[in-house]
Order: sequence, then C-alpha cells, then structure tokens
Amino acid sequence: MHRLIIGISLSIIFSVSAQAENKTENVILITYDGLRNQELFGGIDHRLMKKVKKKERLTTQFVRESDEQEREALLPFFWNTIAKEGQVWGNLDTNSKVRVVNQQVFSYPGYNEILTGRPNPAITSNAKVNNKNITVLEWLNQQPGFNNRVEAFASWDVFPYIINEERSGVPVNAGWEAFTDMGDETKQAQLNMLNRELPQMWDSVRYDVMTFEGAMDAITHHKPRVLYIGFGETDDWAHEGRYDLYIESAHKTDVYIQRIWEKVQSMPEYAGKTTLILTTDHGRGDTDPEWKSHGKKIDGAEYIWMAMIGPDTPAKGVMKNTSTTQGQVAATMAAALGLDFRKDHPEAAPALAMSSK
Ligand SMILES: [Zn+2]
Repeated sequence: MHRLIIGISLSIIFSVSAQAENKTENVILITYDGLRNQELFGGIDHRLMKKVKKKERLTTQFVRESDEQEREALLPFFWNTIAKEGQVWGNLDTNSKVRVVNQQVFSYPGYNEILTGRPNPAITSNAKVNNKNITVLEWLNQQPGFNNRVEAFASWDVFPYIINEERSGVPVNAGWEAFTDMGDETKQAQLNMLNRELPQMWDSVRYDVMTFEGAMDAITHHKPRVLYIGFGETDDWAHEGRYDLYIESAHKTDVYIQRIWEKVQSMPEYAGKTTLILTTDHGRGDTDPEWKSHGKKIDGAEYIWMAMIGPDTPAKGVMKNTSTTQGQVAATMAAALGLDFRKDHPEAAPALAMSSK
C-alpha cells in the first residue's frame, strides 16, 4: 500500500517537473525546399558561378574571403542568430550527418518523413494523393490545448495532400490558392490580386513571398500554437538551372525567417516560449549539372541539415560527431512541447536530444 502511494506520487512529481522544465508552448517548423548543405555551411559555391547570370551582383553581395564569411553573407540571420543561440546539425566537415532515410530523395517522400517521423516506401511519386500516414501536425491538432491551433502555409500545392487537410482538420494554404481567412482583409485582397496577376513561373509552386505573408498574418491574427511554413522556390530555381535565383531565394528566405522570429519575439503569446525548427526535404548533387537535381541516382542528395532555436535549446552552435535522420523532426516538434509523439506512433524516429547540455 505504502509502496503504491510512493510510486504514484513519484510519477506525478516526475511528470510535473518534466513539464515545468520545458518553456516551449509553441512550435514553428520551416522548410526550405532542396537547400543544399553546400550553401548552408559554405555560402555561395564558386564552382557554380562560371556561367551564372547576374554575376556581378552575386559577387558583390555574396562572395567573401572565407566560407564562414560567405555563409554569413548568404544567410545572415541563420548564422548570426540561429547558429549562435541554437543548434545546427548536418555539417559534414564537423562529422555531423543528417540523412534522408527514404529511398526516393525527392519532395513528397521527404516531407512525409519529416512530418510523420518515418519513411514510407509506398510513396514513390509527388502525385496529389492524400497521405495515409498521420503527420505530427494532425496528431498535435488532436492533443488537449492544440485543437484548431495548428496551421500550415506552403508554396507547393501538394501540401494539402501530404498533410491530408481533409482528414487532419489542419488548414493548409498552398500553391496558387487564394487567401480566404486572413485577419487583414485589405492585405488579403492585395495579395490575391498579385497572385492572380503575376506571371506564374511554375504551375504548382507559388512565390515564397505569398507563403511568407500568409504565415505572418496567421501569426499576427490567428496565433497558432503549431505553425508549419514550407518555402519552395529554392528547389524550383535549382531545377531551372538558375543558380543566381536559387541563391537570391535562399537569402530572401533567411530574411523572411528573421522577420518571423522577430515578430514572434514581439508578441506575449510567443515571446520566450516558442521553438523554431528548420530543415529541408532533400539535398542535391554536388557539381554541375548534378546540383540542379536530386533523387536516388544523385550522389550526396541524401545529406540534409536541421537547425533549432528556442528557450529549451542550449546554444551549442554547429554540432560535431552526430548522426541523425530526417524523421527525427516529428518527435522533436512534439518533445519541444513536452509531448511524446512516439507514444501513439512508436515507429517514428526519436526526438533529437535537444536539452542535453
Ligand atoms: Zn526538386
């Protein structure tokens, strides 16, 4: 009898103290589609500048004397804030590997792995098919305190299927879809006008500025506790072979992420209690012309990166001698909120040990 009581009270103390240790109440996940480790850790790639358009402008803006200076010029917020106050995984030069486990190494299988915590060999195309698997977004939407507090914005129009908007109840605004639910109605009308009037470079991917503006409005007005933002342009400019625009897009996205982070730190609902996680769906080839592409036949495209910043993430900077996988993002998002995704989805990859000192 006594033993039973002691056992119960100890387990209560443990769960209360485990929650009390976690300051995170909100999580934002941001993906850059197909942004390579080469640029993230080394800045602009000189090997790919030989026949690039806008060479002068790119040189002035992004060419420096060392890789460290170049990556800082390309992604100033990432390197000056996230890498200093948070953690960065995937630098092959420090023997930190983040691997895509799915065998396809393209987008739908990658986003499925990120969001459900594991690869699914049945997913072998980017077709608009509703995902049979449960994403961590759908799972969080069912947890107490999170119902109707989960939202997603993405540039690629396959995301409503990957997240299974229909079944999950997670609103996903994606592709060239109009905004219908913005808090700022004037802005909504302006963005929808631009969305209709601008030339559409790709049928299935809108410009990232639209995704950014939609997400910023949601932060300001809906204040979701879980927000997913999927930026897409980097991958599409790379497939087009436009290294200049790939680089400019990577830089612009870094500015968007800075504005998102500064916005949340200015709001009482988010400040000091929001964790931001960044990653990508796949890498790309190393040299010309493989850098344009990815997939199982492209060497090295399985190496990706991840980064985290937030009140429960010790400032460890660039990790050394680690080996992690893409699927760890799902459980890490839940763990940041003090929740265990693997309790219901034991086959998902474990959370990153983010609070280990
Ligand atoms: Zn691609």
